[in-house]
Amino acid sequence: MPEGDSIFRAARALHRALAGKVVTSFETTLAPLERVNDDTPIRGRTVERVEARGKWCLIFFSGDLTLLTHMRMSGSWHIYKTGERWQAPRAAMRVVITCGDVQAVAFHVPVAEFHTSRSLERSENVPKLGIDVLGTSFSIDAATRALREHRQSHPDAEIANVLLNQRVLAGIGNVYKSEIAFAAGVNPFRKIQTISDRELERIAEIAERYMRANVAEDKGEAIVTYTGPRRTTHAMNQGARLWVYRRQGQECRRCGTIIEMRRQGTGARSTYWCPSCQPWVDANERSGRPSSER
Ligand SMILES: [Zn+2]
Repeated sequence: MPEGDSIFRAARALHRALAGKVVTSFETTLAPLERVNDDTPIRGRTVERVEARGKWCLIFFSGDLTLLTHMRMSGSWHIYKTGERWQAPRAAMRVVITCGDVQAVAFHVPVAEFHTSRSLERSENVPKLGIDVLGTSFSIDAATRALREHRQSHPDAEIANVLLNQRVLAGIGNVYKSEIAFAAGVNPFRKIQTISDRELERIAEIAERYMRANVAEDKGEAIVTYTGPRRTTHAMNQGARLWVYRRQGQECRRCGTIIEMRRQGTGARSTYWCPSCQPWVDANERSGRPSSER
């Protein structure tokens, strides 16, 4: 699944390529989009801006029309010079927006909808997203508050699942989930009720730091959280760039304990952690009950 930062990068690239330009042709294989295009043509509208909100990409056209796409596992947006050969088969094409000499092509996007600002506001298909970790309204205080509110309403939720919940914080995907929990020293299976305010604040702070760093440095699609120690001049391979993700059976970079992996949550997503750096804390310990009463 594309992580929030890769959606953010895709939206930024689309914005740079299309914003301010007039659509010269619009093509789609999706019937609901085609119907809207027939009634209220996209051709002739100006692309006002492109934004990422969590895992959604929003392309705003003049005349109060917005194209919303969700990439899920397989979808992607490509940008081409008009006439350039596509890097994916034509059969995978769902939407083509041409603005003169530049073309944005959506392949395999499973969710694509047109909205007016009003329907976007009302739509139940569009989740009301939490605070976007990469958004302009993000602050560590606001993110910590959102996590605390979720702790209040869903005390039994496991923290790694909370990190993936786009209605709490938007933009964190499965790789960051494990990396953030590791860096915060928090066992990913802990119920959120066992997690202190200080730990929640640390989680929010690390989430922002990791995701911003990966956007800012434009490292391509590879996510980097682990950058040291720099004792060697050999270029690090991708496996050397993360603390725990996909490192089960290998030694923890901090303490040498063997990294573990277990499936977690409704989607049975893989979760990686170091049992020493991220010790288990159960609900009774946090509530301060003496161990003899357990
Ligand atoms: Zn460790």
